[in-house]
Amino acid sequence: MTKVTSEQETTTRDRTRAEQALLAGLVEYGLFVPSEVPGIYGRGVVYEAVLAGFNHFLSQQTREDGACCLHFPPIMPRANLERIGYLESFPHLAGLVFSFEGGDVDHLELLSQLQNGESYAGAVKMTDVVLNSATCQPLYPTLRGKRLPDGGSLFDLVAYCFRREPSHDPIRMQSFRMREHVCLGHPADVRRWRERWLVRAREMFQRIGLKVDEVVANDPFFGRGGRMLATEQRASEAKFEFVLPISSTEAPTAIMSFNYHEDHFTGPYDIRTSDGARAHSACLGIGIERIAIALFKTHGFDPETWPASVRAHLGLSGKPRPEGTPGGDAA
Ligand code: ATP
Ligand code: ZN
Repeated sequence: MTKVTSEQETTTRDRTRAEQALLAGLVEYGLFVPSEVPGIYGRGVVYEAVLAGFNHFLSQQTREDGACCLHFPPIMPRANLERIGYLESFPHLAGLVFSFEGGDVDHLELLSQLQNGESYAGAVKMTDVVLNSATCQPLYPTLRGKRLPDGGSLFDLVAYCFRREPSHDPIRMQSFRMREHVCLGHPADVRRWRERWLVRAREMFQRIGLKVDEVVANDPFFGRGGRMLATEQRASEAKFEFVLPISSTEAPTAIMSFNYHEDHFTGPYDIRTSDGARAHSACLGIGIERIAIALFKTHGFDPETWPASVRAHLGLSGKPRPEGTPGGDAA
């Protein structure tokens, strides 16, 4: 058993306190509305205005990229999750959808189980749909068997994602929106795109008062085999995160991550470059909910008091929007 030092205990206690204070502030200012389970929140109109403001800012900063904007629902075919190997690597995070498909007799049994407070897990069946775990997942099947144009393709997507990682830290939600830029093409196209982002991400966050660091990272792969995958991923520097302290200085939070997939997604869907080679893909996962929270944490819970330049970049300095209107561009 690992011995927990008093220093570690203090760090964990400090972190929990910081998480509680952040959540309490978000709730007090009407930015978050808590539910019965951790990681599921309603959002207030001011929070939504900030999130929409950031989305608009990002769209302006990246307009010249000419990415194709698409919106997918938060649910996709289960076959897609299986084909891209998600259940091999992240079975603990997946959101499978179960539904009742029985007749009258089964329904009576379900009602009696409900009334007696018994489990009704046996009364529901796994369906052919699942919740998206990442925004880019529904994209790849739409490109099945295609040849990409010269220079590759770039997509700009936003969707709600689900991950079964209940936590009292507001930055770790079970249901959250993630925006993604996805690049597909020759490895050289993907590399060029990545280099461009490494330069501009820091500058972009600086404009809105967020000081980020760039670190090599790994995905939370499941189990013993997963530890090996995580080590390999780090060694090949396939994943970078842009981090900043939110709940802890020792363990800063990722607000955006860069993931190089090689042909992990393009292989199962036979996506090829213009000259017929197997395409590679990479995505930039933009944690727009965490970015909104980081803005509140850094500049205060009331955006009226934020620095004028930050308000201007986020389009918050104009006439206030009518009450109850989220407004702003979705992506
Ligand atoms: P983490 O290491 O924090 O668990 P991740 O590596 O699993 O994040 P990605 O799969 O790279 O995250 O997702 C892209 C971005 O989505 C992250 O950089 C983060 O900003 C955001 N994100 C990931 N998980 C959550 C969550 N549970 N709640 C809110 N935002 C999240
Ligand atoms: Zn992705």
